[in-house]
Amino acid sequence: MKAVLFRQHGGPDKLSYEDIPAPKIGAQDVLVRVKACALNHLDIWIRLGNPAYPMPLPHVLGSDIAGVVEEVGEQVEGVTVGERVLVSPGLSCWRCDQCLAGRDNLCRSFGIIGAITHGGYAEYVKVPFRNVLPIPSNLSFEQAAAFPLVSVTASHMLFAFAGLQHGETVLIMGGGSGVGSVAVQMAKLAGARVITTVGSDDKIPKAVVLGADAVIHHGREKVAERVRLLTEGRGVDVVIEHIGPEVWDSCLESLAKGGRLITCGATTGGEVKLNLRYVFSRQLTIKGSYMGTRAELVKATALMGQGRLIPVIDRTYPLQEARAAQQHLESRKFFGKIVLTVG
Ligand SMILES: [Zn+2]
Repeated sequence: MKAVLFRQHGGPDKLSYEDIPAPKIGAQDVLVRVKACALNHLDIWIRLGNPAYPMPLPHVLGSDIAGVVEEVGEQVEGVTVGERVLVSPGLSCWRCDQCLAGRDNLCRSFGIIGAITHGGYAEYVKVPFRNVLPIPSNLSFEQAAAFPLVSVTASHMLFAFAGLQHGETVLIMGGGSGVGSVAVQMAKLAGARVITTVGSDDKIPKAVVLGADAVIHHGREKVAERVRLLTEGRGVDVVIEHIGPEVWDSCLESLAKGGRLITCGATTGGEVKLNLRYVFSRQLTIKGSYMGTRAELVKATALMGQGRLIPVIDRTYPLQEARAAQQHLESRKFFGKIVLTVG
């Protein structure tokens, strides 16, 4: 099969489009003929050799996959050959206390397809049968690949961790990012007032279309100051951020007393300064979030199927142009998801 792989860690030039053997499935696996695979920042960290994601090389990236079931193992239940499926990116044991409680992203063996296994930058991928879900009939393969990872992440941050309530105000950093573009929609759907940030003028109307009530140009305006103006000096109840040091201070300063800050991603680095007096005197909550649960993906898929959430795609590239697609992701000049089309 054709696949894009890398043999050494490094820049986008390490990606190469080659012929490799198609995966052989086990008794509980399904073989998916990949039709679309969305990019995530995770792909770039892994390619660069982030020590949090050790894996044997060569490696095939790709965590957000949609395609058609080509073959099923002999113990597979409820999945049929020819079915259009999307792939839940989280792998877990399905047996431990956390998995049984529906907190599969806290499973000790939790990992991500495309990180701990070969992913969807290929014509075929094998995944455990429990990881595939039918694609709602209104969604294309590109759309079905564009939402799983970011929607479970956004849902977990907004609802499981921040406990966002109807009528609250939320600040979502980076409304044009994959996580941001779905978080804005989910928060609006839940009845919150949504403030978001973008880095260029062309992204402002796009964020408004998704449901943002106010959009801050972070290059031109001081985020926390604008948030104070928009909230009559009070601040927001919840901040959702996935950027890290570059925005950390603005995030904290934007919170109302008793506010909740949920962080993930840390795309600009891992270390920030924290004034503990500020945190306790304002009674702030700070939580780290990693991915989300299978149940959250089932809910997000239903909402996408009903058209109440919309997968946001910036651009598609054919598989063989994965290098250009990753460079586009690194440029930050996108709104929504970048998706590879296969076959
Ligand atoms: Zn488990």
